[in-house]
Amino acid sequence: MTEDRHLFAELGLHPAIVEVVKGVGYVEPTAIQREAIPIVLAGRDVLGMAQTGTGKTAAFTLPMVQRLSATPSRKAPRGLVVTPTRELAQQIRRAVTTYGSASSIEAIVVHGGTRLGPEQEELAFGCDVLVATPGRLLDHLKRGNVDLSSVEVLILDEADRMLDMGFIDDVKTIVKATPDTRQTLLFSATMPNGVRWLAHELMRDPEEVRIGHEMPADGIRQLLHPVDWSRKHELLLYLLGEWPDGQVLVFTRTRDPATYLADVLRARAVSVASLHGGKHQDQRDKALKRFREGTTRVLVATNVAARGLDIRGIRHVVNFDVPEDPRDYVHRVGRTARGEDTGDAVTLMAASDWVEIRAIERLLERNIERQLVPGFEPEVSPPSLEEETKEVRKPTALRRGIRRRK
Ligand code: AMP
Repeated sequence: MTEDRHLFAELGLHPAIVEVVKGVGYVEPTAIQREAIPIVLAGRDVLGMAQTGTGKTAAFTLPMVQRLSATPSRKAPRGLVVTPTRELAQQIRRAVTTYGSASSIEAIVVHGGTRLGPEQEELAFGCDVLVATPGRLLDHLKRGNVDLSSVEVLILDEADRMLDMGFIDDVKTIVKATPDTRQTLLFSATMPNGVRWLAHELMRDPEEVRIGHEMPADGIRQLLHPVDWSRKHELLLYLLGEWPDGQVLVFTRTRDPATYLADVLRARAVSVASLHGGKHQDQRDKALKRFREGTTRVLVATNVAARGLDIRGIRHVVNFDVPEDPRDYVHRVGRTARGEDTGDAVTLMAASDWVEIRAIERLLERNIERQLVPGFEPEVSPPSLEEETKEVRKPTALRRGIRRRK
Protein backbone atom coordinates (compact mmCIF):
# COMPACT_ATOMS: atom_id res chain seq x y z
CA MET A 1 0.00 0.00 0.00
CA THR A 2 2.96 2.30 0.57
CA GLU A 3 3.59 2.19 -3.14
CA ASP A 4 -0.02 3.18 -3.94
CA ARG A 5 0.33 6.26 -1.80
CA HIS A 6 3.55 7.02 -3.53
CA LEU A 7 1.97 6.83 -6.99
CA PHE A 8 -0.75 9.38 -6.26
CA ALA A 9 1.52 11.46 -4.02
CA GLU A 10 4.00 11.74 -6.90
CA LEU A 11 1.42 13.77 -8.78
CA GLY A 12 1.63 16.43 -6.09
CA LEU A 13 -1.49 15.50 -4.17
CA HIS A 14 -1.61 16.23 -0.47
CA PRO A 15 -1.14 13.20 1.83
CA ALA A 16 -4.66 13.65 3.26
CA ILE A 17 -6.14 13.46 -0.25
CA VAL A 18 -3.92 10.50 -1.12
CA GLU A 19 -5.40 8.75 1.92
CA VAL A 20 -8.91 9.40 0.62
CA VAL A 21 -7.96 8.03 -2.80
CA LYS A 22 -6.53 4.96 -1.13
CA GLY A 23 -9.73 4.56 0.84
CA VAL A 24 -11.74 4.59 -2.40
CA GLY A 25 -9.54 1.72 -3.54
CA TYR A 26 -7.62 3.22 -6.45
CA VAL A 27 -4.28 1.51 -6.83
CA GLU A 28 -2.67 3.74 -9.43
CA PRO A 29 -3.66 6.88 -11.28
CA THR A 30 -5.23 6.48 -14.71
CA ALA A 31 -3.58 8.07 -17.76
CA ILE A 32 -5.72 11.21 -17.66
CA GLN A 33 -5.07 11.57 -13.93
CA ARG A 34 -1.31 11.20 -14.42
CA GLU A 35 -1.36 13.82 -17.15
CA ALA A 36 -3.87 16.33 -15.87
CA ILE A 37 -3.44 16.42 -12.08
CA PRO A 38 0.07 17.98 -12.00
CA ILE A 39 -0.95 20.59 -14.59
CA VAL A 40 -4.09 21.54 -12.68
CA LEU A 41 -2.14 21.69 -9.42
CA ALA A 42 0.30 24.06 -11.12
CA GLY A 43 -2.64 26.39 -11.74
CA ARG A 44 -2.71 26.04 -15.53
CA ASP A 45 -5.84 25.93 -17.67
CA VAL A 46 -6.46 22.50 -19.16
CA LEU A 47 -8.18 21.45 -22.35
CA GLY A 48 -8.79 17.76 -21.79
CA MET A 49 -9.96 15.31 -24.41
CA ALA A 50 -10.87 12.08 -22.74
CA GLN A 51 -13.55 9.48 -23.20
CA THR A 52 -15.76 8.61 -20.27
CA GLY A 53 -14.61 5.73 -18.12
CA THR A 54 -11.03 7.02 -18.09
CA GLY A 55 -11.19 8.50 -14.60
CA LYS A 56 -11.57 12.10 -15.75
CA THR A 57 -13.90 13.05 -12.89
CA ALA A 58 -11.17 12.37 -10.34
CA ALA A 59 -8.64 14.01 -12.69
CA PHE A 60 -10.36 17.36 -12.27
CA THR A 61 -11.97 16.90 -8.85
CA LEU A 62 -8.90 15.86 -6.87
CA PRO A 63 -6.75 18.89 -7.73
CA MET A 64 -9.73 21.23 -7.42
CA VAL A 65 -10.43 19.90 -3.94
CA GLN A 66 -6.76 20.32 -3.04
CA ARG A 67 -6.73 23.91 -4.22
CA LEU A 68 -9.90 24.82 -2.34
CA SER A 69 -9.22 22.90 0.82
CA ALA A 70 -6.53 25.31 1.94
CA THR A 71 -9.32 27.69 2.91
CA PRO A 72 -12.75 26.03 3.04
CA SER A 73 -15.24 28.85 3.50
CA ARG A 74 -18.64 27.46 2.57
CA LYS A 75 -19.87 30.83 1.38
CA ALA A 76 -20.06 31.72 -2.29
CA PRO A 77 -18.79 28.82 -4.44
CA ARG A 78 -15.08 28.88 -5.28
CA GLY A 79 -15.30 25.75 -7.38
CA LEU A 80 -17.91 25.50 -10.15
CA VAL A 81 -18.56 22.42 -12.28
CA VAL A 82 -20.97 22.78 -15.20
CA THR A 83 -22.12 19.54 -16.82
CA PRO A 84 -24.89 18.75 -19.31
CA THR A 85 -27.19 16.29 -17.52
CA ARG A 86 -28.81 15.94 -14.13
CA GLU A 87 -27.43 12.47 -13.60
CA LEU A 88 -23.88 13.59 -14.32
CA ALA A 89 -24.30 16.58 -12.03
CA GLN A 90 -25.36 14.34 -9.15
CA GLN A 91 -22.55 11.91 -9.86
CA ILE A 92 -19.94 14.67 -9.84
CA ARG A 93 -21.38 16.11 -6.63
CA ARG A 94 -20.90 12.70 -5.01
CA ALA A 95 -17.32 12.57 -6.29
CA VAL A 96 -16.55 16.05 -4.90
CA THR A 97 -18.03 15.09 -1.54
CA THR A 98 -16.00 11.87 -1.44
CA TYR A 99 -12.69 13.31 -2.62
CA GLY A 100 -13.20 16.41 -0.48
CA SER A 101 -14.06 14.49 2.67
CA ALA A 102 -10.63 14.99 4.22
CA SER A 103 -10.92 18.75 3.99
CA SER A 104 -14.61 19.29 4.79
CA ILE A 105 -15.35 20.61 1.33
CA GLU A 106 -19.06 21.28 1.05
CA ALA A 107 -20.58 20.62 -2.38
CA ILE A 108 -24.11 21.23 -3.56
CA VAL A 109 -25.84 20.44 -6.82
CA VAL A 110 -28.48 22.33 -8.78
CA HIS A 111 -30.18 20.95 -11.88
CA GLY A 112 -33.42 21.14 -13.80
CA GLY A 113 -36.39 18.93 -13.04
CA THR A 114 -36.52 19.76 -9.35
CA ARG A 115 -38.09 22.63 -7.41
CA LEU A 116 -36.13 25.87 -7.27
CA GLY A 117 -37.02 26.63 -3.65
CA PRO A 118 -34.94 23.99 -1.83
CA GLU A 119 -31.98 24.69 -4.12
CA GLN A 120 -32.32 28.39 -3.40
CA GLU A 121 -32.17 27.66 0.32
CA GLU A 122 -29.09 25.51 -0.10
CA LEU A 123 -27.41 28.19 -2.19
CA ALA A 124 -28.20 30.79 0.47
CA PHE A 125 -26.57 28.53 3.04
CA GLY A 126 -23.35 28.50 1.00
CA CYS A 127 -20.89 25.91 -0.27
CA ASP A 128 -17.33 25.47 -1.50
CA VAL A 129 -18.19 23.72 -4.77
CA LEU A 130 -21.29 24.11 -6.88
CA VAL A 131 -22.13 21.44 -9.46
CA ALA A 132 -24.80 22.47 -11.94
CA THR A 133 -26.50 21.95 -15.26
CA PRO A 134 -26.35 25.13 -17.40
CA GLY A 135 -30.06 25.99 -17.68
CA ARG A 136 -30.82 25.74 -13.98
CA LEU A 137 -27.67 27.56 -12.97
CA LEU A 138 -28.55 30.43 -15.30
CA ASP A 139 -31.99 30.53 -13.74
CA HIS A 140 -30.50 30.91 -10.26
CA LEU A 141 -28.02 33.45 -11.54
CA LYS A 142 -30.77 35.62 -13.05
CA ARG A 143 -32.77 35.45 -9.84
CA GLY A 144 -29.76 36.56 -7.85
CA ASN A 145 -29.70 33.31 -5.89
CA VAL A 146 -26.03 32.68 -6.50
CA ASP A 147 -22.92 34.79 -6.69
CA LEU A 148 -20.20 33.43 -8.94
CA SER A 149 -17.71 36.24 -8.36
CA SER A 150 -15.60 34.11 -6.00
CA VAL A 151 -15.09 31.23 -8.43
CA GLU A 152 -11.44 30.24 -8.55
CA VAL A 153 -11.76 26.99 -10.49
CA LEU A 154 -14.28 26.54 -13.29
CA ILE A 155 -14.78 23.11 -14.84
CA LEU A 156 -16.77 22.61 -18.01
CA ASP A 157 -17.45 18.91 -18.30
CA GLU A 158 -18.65 17.13 -21.46
CA ALA A 159 -18.36 20.38 -23.40
CA ASP A 160 -19.23 18.72 -26.73
CA ARG A 161 -22.45 17.45 -25.26
CA MET A 162 -23.35 20.88 -23.87
CA LEU A 163 -22.81 22.28 -27.34
CA ASP A 164 -24.98 19.57 -28.92
CA MET A 165 -27.72 20.25 -26.42
CA GLY A 166 -27.78 23.94 -27.30
CA PHE A 167 -26.36 25.15 -23.99
CA ILE A 168 -23.59 27.20 -25.56
CA ASP A 169 -25.06 30.65 -24.83
CA ASP A 170 -26.02 29.65 -21.29
CA VAL A 171 -22.48 28.45 -20.71
CA LYS A 172 -21.01 31.69 -22.01
CA THR A 173 -23.29 33.77 -19.79
CA ILE A 174 -22.34 31.67 -16.78
CA VAL A 175 -18.64 32.00 -17.52
CA LYS A 176 -19.00 35.79 -17.80
CA ALA A 177 -20.32 35.83 -14.22
CA THR A 178 -17.05 34.32 -12.96
CA PRO A 179 -13.83 36.30 -12.51
CA ASP A 180 -11.31 36.48 -15.35
CA THR A 181 -8.64 35.36 -12.93
CA ARG A 182 -10.21 31.91 -12.54
CA GLN A 183 -8.56 28.67 -13.58
CA THR A 184 -10.57 26.96 -16.32
CA LEU A 185 -10.62 23.25 -17.12
CA LEU A 186 -12.59 22.09 -20.13
CA PHE A 187 -13.20 18.40 -20.76
CA SER A 188 -14.78 16.92 -23.84
CA ALA A 189 -15.01 13.46 -25.36
CA THR A 190 -14.63 14.92 -28.84
CA MET A 191 -13.06 18.12 -30.04
CA PRO A 192 -15.32 19.58 -32.73
CA ASN A 193 -14.62 23.14 -33.88
CA GLY A 194 -17.30 24.55 -31.59
CA VAL A 195 -15.47 23.20 -28.55
CA ARG A 196 -12.14 24.51 -29.82
CA TRP A 197 -13.65 27.96 -30.24
CA LEU A 198 -15.14 27.84 -26.78
CA ALA A 199 -11.79 26.82 -25.36
CA HIS A 200 -10.05 29.60 -27.30
CA GLU A 201 -12.53 32.16 -25.99
CA LEU A 202 -12.61 31.07 -22.37
CA MET A 203 -9.15 29.80 -21.55
CA ARG A 204 -5.72 31.27 -21.16
CA ASP A 205 -2.96 29.35 -22.88
CA PRO A 206 -4.46 25.98 -22.00
CA GLU A 207 -2.35 22.86 -21.78
CA GLU A 208 -3.86 20.17 -23.98
CA VAL A 209 -4.29 16.71 -22.56
CA ARG A 210 -5.49 14.09 -24.96
CA ILE A 211 -6.15 10.57 -23.82
CA GLY A 212 -6.83 8.10 -26.56
CA HIS A 213 -9.33 8.56 -29.36
CA GLU A 214 -13.00 8.50 -28.96
CA MET A 215 -13.01 4.73 -28.73
CA PRO A 216 -14.58 2.23 -26.39
CA ALA A 217 -12.24 1.12 -23.60
CA ASP A 218 -10.21 -2.03 -24.23
CA GLY A 219 -12.08 -4.05 -21.61
CA ILE A 220 -15.32 -3.95 -23.60
CA ARG A 221 -16.11 -6.92 -25.82
CA GLN A 222 -18.39 -5.77 -28.61
CA LEU A 223 -20.74 -7.99 -30.59
CA LEU A 224 -23.44 -7.57 -33.20
CA HIS A 225 -26.33 -10.05 -33.15
CA PRO A 226 -28.16 -10.02 -36.50
CA VAL A 227 -31.89 -10.62 -35.82
CA ASP A 228 -35.25 -9.80 -37.36
CA TRP A 229 -36.66 -6.57 -36.01
CA SER A 230 -39.81 -8.30 -34.77
CA ARG A 231 -37.79 -10.77 -32.69
CA LYS A 232 -35.60 -8.31 -30.80
CA HIS A 233 -37.71 -8.60 -27.61
CA GLU A 234 -37.51 -12.35 -27.70
CA LEU A 235 -33.76 -12.31 -28.30
CA LEU A 236 -33.22 -9.91 -25.42
CA LEU A 237 -35.16 -12.20 -23.08
CA TYR A 238 -33.09 -15.13 -24.28
CA LEU A 239 -29.82 -13.25 -23.69
CA LEU A 240 -30.91 -12.19 -20.20
CA GLY A 241 -31.43 -15.86 -19.44
CA GLU A 242 -27.99 -16.70 -20.82
CA TRP A 243 -26.23 -14.15 -18.66
CA PRO A 244 -26.30 -15.56 -15.17
CA ASP A 245 -25.03 -12.54 -13.31
CA GLY A 246 -24.22 -8.87 -13.53
CA GLN A 247 -26.42 -5.96 -14.28
CA VAL A 248 -27.68 -5.11 -17.71
CA LEU A 249 -28.21 -1.68 -19.22
CA VAL A 250 -30.47 -1.71 -22.30
CA PHE A 251 -30.72 1.26 -24.64
CA THR A 252 -33.65 2.29 -26.79
CA ARG A 253 -33.70 5.40 -28.92
CA THR A 254 -36.81 7.03 -27.53
CA ARG A 255 -39.04 7.08 -24.46
CA ASP A 256 -42.06 5.04 -25.49
CA PRO A 257 -40.10 1.98 -26.60
CA ALA A 258 -38.15 2.17 -23.32
CA THR A 259 -41.38 2.05 -21.30
CA TYR A 260 -42.83 -0.66 -23.51
CA LEU A 261 -39.72 -2.80 -23.37
CA ALA A 262 -39.56 -2.48 -19.57
CA ASP A 263 -43.22 -3.59 -19.41
CA VAL A 264 -42.53 -6.59 -21.62
CA LEU A 265 -39.57 -7.64 -19.46
CA ARG A 266 -41.50 -7.09 -16.24
CA ALA A 267 -44.30 -9.28 -17.55
CA ARG A 268 -41.69 -12.02 -17.95
CA ALA A 269 -40.57 -11.64 -14.32
CA VAL A 270 -37.40 -9.68 -15.09
CA SER A 271 -36.41 -7.20 -12.39
CA VAL A 272 -36.39 -4.04 -14.48
CA ALA A 273 -36.75 -0.25 -14.35
CA SER A 274 -36.72 2.40 -17.04
CA LEU A 275 -34.94 5.75 -17.23
CA HIS A 276 -35.75 8.45 -19.72
CA GLY A 277 -36.32 12.17 -20.02
CA GLY A 278 -40.11 11.84 -19.81
CA LYS A 279 -39.94 10.75 -16.19
CA HIS A 280 -40.10 13.05 -13.20
CA GLN A 281 -36.80 13.67 -11.54
CA ASP A 282 -37.73 11.77 -8.40
CA GLN A 283 -38.70 8.74 -10.51
CA ARG A 284 -35.40 8.96 -12.36
CA ASP A 285 -33.49 9.23 -9.11
CA LYS A 286 -35.34 6.27 -7.67
CA ALA A 287 -34.77 4.10 -10.75
CA LEU A 288 -31.06 4.96 -10.76
CA LYS A 289 -30.66 4.41 -7.05
CA ARG A 290 -32.26 0.97 -7.20
CA PHE A 291 -30.12 0.03 -10.17
CA ARG A 292 -26.99 1.42 -8.56
CA GLU A 293 -27.71 -0.61 -5.43
CA GLY A 294 -28.37 -3.72 -7.48
CA THR A 295 -32.02 -4.00 -6.46
CA THR A 296 -33.07 -3.98 -10.11
CA ARG A 297 -31.05 -6.06 -12.52
CA VAL A 298 -32.01 -4.45 -15.79
CA LEU A 299 -32.30 -0.75 -16.60
CA VAL A 300 -33.90 0.25 -19.89
CA ALA A 301 -32.75 3.73 -20.79
CA THR A 302 -32.62 6.28 -23.56
CA ASN A 303 -29.49 8.29 -24.31
CA VAL A 304 -30.20 10.39 -21.22
CA ALA A 305 -28.28 7.67 -19.41
CA ALA A 306 -25.64 7.16 -22.06
CA ARG A 307 -23.27 9.92 -21.14
CA GLY A 308 -20.99 9.56 -18.23
CA LEU A 309 -23.19 7.44 -16.00
CA ASP A 310 -20.88 5.63 -13.71
CA ILE A 311 -22.32 2.47 -12.27
CA ARG A 312 -20.05 -0.32 -11.23
CA GLY A 313 -21.42 -3.78 -11.86
CA ILE A 314 -22.85 -3.24 -15.34
CA ARG A 315 -21.63 -6.37 -17.09
CA HIS A 316 -23.71 -6.02 -20.23
CA VAL A 317 -24.82 -3.11 -22.33
CA VAL A 318 -27.45 -3.94 -24.94
CA ASN A 319 -28.22 -1.66 -27.85
CA PHE A 320 -31.78 -2.74 -28.42
CA ASP A 321 -32.02 0.11 -30.89
CA VAL A 322 -28.93 1.20 -32.77
CA PRO A 323 -28.15 4.84 -31.97
CA GLU A 324 -28.54 7.37 -34.77
CA ASP A 325 -25.40 9.23 -33.83
CA PRO A 326 -22.36 6.92 -33.87
CA ARG A 327 -20.79 8.91 -31.04
CA ASP A 328 -23.69 7.81 -28.84
CA TYR A 329 -22.65 4.22 -29.49
CA VAL A 330 -19.27 4.91 -27.93
CA HIS A 331 -20.86 6.56 -24.93
CA ARG A 332 -23.45 3.84 -24.52
CA VAL A 333 -20.99 0.95 -24.57
CA GLY A 334 -18.73 2.94 -22.27
CA ARG A 335 -21.26 2.32 -19.50
CA THR A 336 -19.78 -1.14 -19.06
CA ALA A 337 -16.18 -2.01 -18.20
CA ARG A 338 -15.86 0.99 -15.88
CA GLY A 339 -12.40 1.53 -14.46
CA GLU A 340 -10.57 -1.79 -14.34
CA ASP A 341 -13.65 -3.96 -15.04
CA THR A 342 -14.50 -5.78 -18.23
CA GLY A 343 -17.89 -6.05 -19.87
CA ASP A 344 -19.86 -6.93 -22.98
CA ALA A 345 -21.67 -4.60 -25.33
CA VAL A 346 -24.08 -6.28 -27.70
CA THR A 347 -26.08 -4.64 -30.42
CA LEU A 348 -29.24 -6.21 -31.80
CA MET A 349 -28.99 -5.54 -35.51
CA ALA A 350 -32.01 -5.75 -37.80
CA ALA A 351 -31.55 -5.42 -41.55
CA SER A 352 -32.75 -1.82 -41.37
CA ASP A 353 -30.01 -0.95 -38.86
CA TRP A 354 -27.06 -1.53 -41.10
CA VAL A 355 -26.63 2.05 -42.28
CA GLU A 356 -26.18 3.18 -38.68
CA ILE A 357 -23.95 0.21 -37.96
CA ARG A 358 -21.72 1.16 -40.86
CA ALA A 359 -21.43 4.70 -39.50
CA ILE A 360 -20.40 3.28 -36.13
CA GLU A 361 -17.83 1.00 -37.69
CA ARG A 362 -16.41 3.89 -39.66
CA LEU A 363 -16.02 5.84 -36.43
CA LEU A 364 -14.40 2.86 -34.72
CA GLU A 365 -12.25 2.19 -37.80
CA ARG A 366 -13.00 -1.47 -37.43
CA ASN A 367 -15.77 -3.96 -37.90
CA ILE A 368 -17.64 -5.24 -34.91
CA GLU A 369 -17.79 -9.01 -34.64
CA ARG A 370 -21.04 -10.51 -35.99
CA GLN A 371 -22.45 -13.40 -34.03
CA LEU A 372 -25.61 -15.23 -34.96
CA VAL A 373 -27.53 -16.51 -31.98
CA PRO A 374 -28.78 -20.03 -32.78
CA GLY A 375 -32.55 -19.98 -33.15
CA PHE A 376 -32.56 -16.27 -33.94
CA GLU A 377 -31.05 -16.30 -37.42
CA PRO A 378 -32.81 -13.49 -39.29
CA GLU A 379 -35.07 -14.13 -42.24
CA VAL A 380 -34.16 -10.74 -43.60
CA SER A 381 -30.40 -10.53 -43.43
CA PRO A 382 -28.38 -7.37 -43.24
CA PRO A 383 -25.76 -7.22 -45.99
CA SER A 384 -23.04 -9.75 -45.39
CA LEU A 385 -19.86 -8.73 -43.67
CA GLU A 386 -17.97 -9.21 -46.93
CA GLU A 387 -20.31 -6.88 -48.81
CA GLU A 388 -20.09 -4.32 -46.05
CA THR A 389 -16.39 -4.53 -45.47
CA LYS A 390 -15.69 -3.69 -49.11
CA GLU A 391 -16.91 -0.23 -48.21
CA VAL A 392 -16.23 0.00 -44.51
CA ARG A 393 -12.87 -1.56 -44.09
CA LYS A 394 -10.03 0.86 -43.61
CA PRO A 395 -6.33 0.18 -43.36
CA THR A 396 -6.40 0.07 -39.56
CA ALA A 397 -9.29 -2.40 -39.58
CA LEU A 398 -7.36 -4.53 -42.05
CA ARG A 399 -4.37 -4.56 -39.78
CA ARG A 400 -6.43 -5.62 -36.81
CA GLY A 401 -8.23 -8.21 -38.87
CA ILE A 402 -11.87 -9.13 -38.57
CA ARG A 403 -12.80 -11.59 -35.91
CA ARG A 404 -15.36 -14.11 -37.03
CA ARG A 405 -17.52 -16.49 -35.20
CA LYS A 406 -15.85 -19.86 -34.85
P1 AMP B 1 -14.93 8.59 -14.99
O1 AMP B 1 -14.20 8.53 -16.29
O2 AMP B 1 -14.54 9.77 -14.17
O3 AMP B 1 -16.42 8.50 -15.20
O4 AMP B 1 -14.47 7.33 -14.09
C1 AMP B 1 -14.68 6.01 -14.50
C2 AMP B 1 -14.54 5.00 -13.39
O5 AMP B 1 -13.17 4.78 -13.06
C3 AMP B 1 -15.22 5.35 -12.08
O6 AMP B 1 -15.89 4.19 -11.62
C4 AMP B 1 -14.11 5.71 -11.15
O7 AMP B 1 -14.45 5.42 -9.81
C5 AMP B 1 -13.00 4.80 -11.65
N1 AMP B 1 -11.66 5.32 -11.38
C6 AMP B 1 -11.26 6.61 -11.41
N2 AMP B 1 -9.95 6.71 -11.12
C7 AMP B 1 -9.51 5.45 -10.92
C8 AMP B 1 -8.22 4.89 -10.59
N3 AMP B 1 -7.16 5.65 -10.43
N4 AMP B 1 -8.16 3.54 -10.46
C9 AMP B 1 -9.24 2.76 -10.63
N5 AMP B 1 -10.47 3.22 -10.94
C10 AMP B 1 -10.61 4.56 -11.09
